[in-house]
Amino acid sequence: MAGLAVSGGGIAGMAVALAAARAGHEVTVFCGRTLPQLAGGLQLAPNGWAALTALGLAERATASSLRLHNIMVRALDSGSTLIQLPLHEPYASISTSMAGRSG
Ligand SMILES: Cc1cc2nc3c(=O)[nH]c(=O)nc-3n(C[C@H](O)[C@H](O)[C@H](O)COP(=O)(O)OP(=O)(O)OC[C@H]3O[C@@H](n4cnc5c(N)ncnc54)[C@H](O)[C@@H]3O)c2cc1C
Repeated sequence: MAGLAVSGGGIAGMAVALAAARAGHEVTVFCGRTLPQLAGGLQLAPNGWAALTALGLAERATASSLRLHNIMVRALDSGSTLIQLPLHEPYASISTSMAGRSG
């Protein structure tokens, strides 16, 4: 197996580093700054869940997330619903308070 260098420790860099390490490669991650921290919250769309599933991380992420069923856009002044999009595929939100939760 090859030794691989990954430039960047964001979502893409860490995902490729994990996948390559699991495939048996020796991986070194080079990151320009300190590793990014989750601030506020993160919305995970279906393509993100597909990637987490492929990496074997979906179960852990599910335990730390809140499943979303609709996206609603409301008028700022009246609060009336302008549009409502039902979410049929997995779509979830992870907040900083949930990220450390397990099971
Ligand atoms: C305010 C905000 C909110 C967002 N919310 C969401 C969300 O809810 N859901 C969602 O799916 N996406 C969200 N995104 C988008 C998501 O953050 C990006 O799509 C994702 O972070 C991109 O990942 P990346 O690994 O490609 O790049 P980055 O996360 O930008 O990571 C790149 C890394 O490379 C490092 N780097 C840069 N230059 C070098 C270099 N020369 N050598 C070595 N390392 C280097 C950087 O320091 C950084 O750590 C949001 C983005 C922003 C700005």
